[in-house]
Amino acid sequence: MTGKITYCLSYPLVLTRTCANRCGYCRFPLIGPERLPSMKVVRRHLRTAAQLGASQIELIAGEGLATHPDIMAMVRYLGFDSYQAYLAKILQLIEATNRRSHLFSLLNIGPLSLAELRILRPYLCAMRIMLETADPRLEFREAHCNSPGKTPDRRLEAILRCGRAGVPLTTGIIVGIGEAPESRIKAFEIIARAHERYGHIQAVRIQMFHPMPGTPMAGWSELPEEEFLDIVAAARTFFGPAMPIQVSAQEHPHLLGRLLEAGVTDFGNVSVRQGPDSALPWPNLVALMMQEARKRGRLLAKRFPLFASHCSPRWYPGGYPKRIPVARSVMLESAHRLSHTQTTSY
Ligand code: SF4
Repeated sequence: MTGKITYCLSYPLVLTRTCANRCGYCRFPLIGPERLPSMKVVRRHLRTAAQLGASQIELIAGEGLATHPDIMAMVRYLGFDSYQAYLAKILQLIEATNRRSHLFSLLNIGPLSLAELRILRPYLCAMRIMLETADPRLEFREAHCNSPGKTPDRRLEAILRCGRAGVPLTTGIIVGIGEAPESRIKAFEIIARAHERYGHIQAVRIQMFHPMPGTPMAGWSELPEEEFLDIVAAARTFFGPAMPIQVSAQEHPHLLGRLLEAGVTDFGNVSVRQGPDSALPWPNLVALMMQEARKRGRLLAKRFPLFASHCSPRWYPGGYPKRIPVARSVMLESAHRLSHTQTTSY
């Protein structure tokens, strides 16, 4: 492979961990419900995200919440008559500030109905909804036996609705959750067919299962790295050179070079918020990505939530800056300088 490697500097904002599903590998239900942030709190996050140099606000929430009684009660308390109206207001706030701050939205809250998508579409930049698996047997296994929203049919419907509503989408699979190996190619076929129909898939994400303490799958093992790399390579072969293949650099900082060799062209979101799960501070991670890309004669480039293939008025009527502003480049220069002192210690 040649050409650019991309990533997005992202500010993750968890709206709620309430969820209608109970996936066997997820810690959200263990952490439990909390209050939805008010608009005042959201504005504060937007200011912080801009100060930290993020290009994207990733809005994260559990799934299936439009009629959830706790969520309904909270949005009413905040002065909204529905969850969609609450989300639309947040997206409008992001839109209202992005001429100045160059912050754009990525919605990661699970499937939405067509009516909900049409309400949010005018303010929405892009979404992530994982297909997760094409193996229907997971419905009866630890991974998804308590997650009615995770059947392959329902996920496909959600992906197709995004296409119908003209929403650019990152989708993909989670590997190592008990799926039959042959179902992975079947999942690629499903994604490819959805893309042929609507052209809205902007990247295919391959996500490795990691066992989380306290979850029903805490005692499971991860896939061997070689098998993970083989799946990434199979995705690249299947989709050809034009489709970005995304693997999170944050989750695999020690594998970056081998991921590039396997066909990865996008390192996903790099969080400017340092969390307990972050392996490296973000400037060091960016420096490491840059180093690995350069070694292979590739160029590392920042991107917005939209990929180059979807940076057009058809996909984002709100308009898009041609490049990331200078202030952010300066920050990344600092990151590059850090590479000489800190990446070697990793
Ligand atoms: S749907 Fe998402 S947030 Fe909900 S339990 Fe599953 S992985 Fe966690």
